[in-house]
Amino acid sequence: MKLLIVEDDAELVHELRPILKKAGFVLDVADNGMDGEFLGLEESFDAIVLDLGLPGKEGIEVLRTWRSVGLATPVLILTARDAWFERVDGLRAGADDYLGKPFHPGELIARLEAIIRRNAGKSDNTLEWAGVTLDVERQIACQQDGSTRELTGIEFRLLRYLMLHPQRVLSKTELSEHVYEEEQLKDSNVIEVYINRLRHLFGKDFIETRRRQGYRLRAPER
Ligand code: CA
Repeated sequence: MKLLIVEDDAELVHELRPILKKAGFVLDVADNGMDGEFLGLEESFDAIVLDLGLPGKEGIEVLRTWRSVGLATPVLILTARDAWFERVDGLRAGADDYLGKPFHPGELIARLEAIIRRNAGKSDNTLEWAGVTLDVERQIACQQDGSTRELTGIEFRLLRYLMLHPQRVLSKTELSEHVYEEEQLKDSNVIEVYINRLRHLFGKDFIETRRRQGYRLRAPER
């Protein structure tokens, strides 16, 4: 899951970074409105956390710009300004959710997971495919026979992304962007290695390869 955080409070970002990483998010951070607006338009994110009081350009204006050009990425506003009328303004400007400071990181993560899920067209919290259920909180996979599989960080993030978009063929580039940190090696062969690890865990037919296009979860036979 690739997340953009537009927030000028460096201490807060510093505090959130390891918690969000542990929850399986890959982070990009902008500390002002101009850079945040640019990054949001330039790259593809699964969700955006947006502060309102930002240097350069106010968060609400950044959000209005994004929505006016058709950016559909789910946005959660995170701010100390959380009077009811400010929440209304934020939601009307196109925010999907609103969280007032101070907050518990666990609530932020749960809200982000919820808006990402809704954006992917899923109404419940279960990520399931062909008898494999992903337990997002514990980052393990459960199989029909009741057995569980421990997943490494990358295996978890890759499987979650595939399960959120089961109908789409996902290119190696898209997968690496949503599964790795920016500074990590973005060699697309690494994705191949992890796809094969998931096949090893859940069966070779669990994921299909589309030549020159990418990967997709294989539809179970009826
Ligand atoms: Ca601020």
